[in-house]
Amino acid sequence: MKNLRDIRAFLLDMDGTIYVSDEIISRAREFIRFLEEKGYPFLFLTNNSAARAEDYQQKLSRMGIDVEKERVLTSGEATIRYLLRETPHRRICLLGTPALEKEFRDSGLELDNKEPHCVVLGFDMTLTFEKLANAGLLLAKGVPYYATHPDFTCITDKGLIPDTGAIIAALDTVVHRKPKIIGKPQPEMVAAALEKLGAAAGETAMVGDQLDTDLTMAAKSNLFGVLVLSGETPVEKLESQSMIKPDMVVSDVGELCDRLREL
Ligand SMILES: [Mg+2]
Repeated sequence: MKNLRDIRAFLLDMDGTIYVSDEIISRAREFIRFLEEKGYPFLFLTNNSAARAEDYQQKLSRMGIDVEKERVLTSGEATIRYLLRETPHRRICLLGTPALEKEFRDSGLELDNKEPHCVVLGFDMTLTFEKLANAGLLLAKGVPYYATHPDFTCITDKGLIPDTGAIIAALDTVVHRKPKIIGKPQPEMVAAALEKLGAAAGETAMVGDQLDTDLTMAAKSNLFGVLVLSGETPVEKLESQSMIKPDMVVSDVGELCDRLREL
């Protein structure tokens, strides 16, 4: 039985857990201050590979949470860490934003659309037909294939727009191949986070608002799963979805802060 007492480090979802769109969740600042004061290592996780860690650092800062950009792990960075640690691929055909391209280059990876060692799909908001067609031709030849995260849609203030999962699906109709995926809820995202934190799974909590990503990931990777009810999961869904059992359920990170103080 896992216990909050054994937890030394925290992985934190952002939307629905720390803020909802641009509204900070009440007591989120207090929770982060508490983690800092007590010296708990923590990381904010996001599957969004179109944005940079700095973008999230600035967003958090606007809401009164000032952290170093190293506190943010995007699925883009997790993918880079995975490629460098687990594969020999150094020449990449990348479908991604200029920000993601820069992150790959800064990590020592070479971008090459002609003779790459592998194809990597990110959340490419600069996608063109030419890029898509080129990736399809490479995949048809059997080039190894990765994607930063599986999300089909991304929520914007205008509504849902296609995310990486939709690009995966489009290519699948042409080449009948699926990529190895790195982002939440995959264990590769956890491996990148634990590597960055220097923590072990058994002493780390995953705090998030979604059963099918955050809490599924916690269960698969032996993390202590904390579900917050401040985001996308209503209590009724928790009761009906008996497949995924969080180790702890709290109304929000403020309540989690109270539980940690009580230890
Ligand atoms: Mg969330």
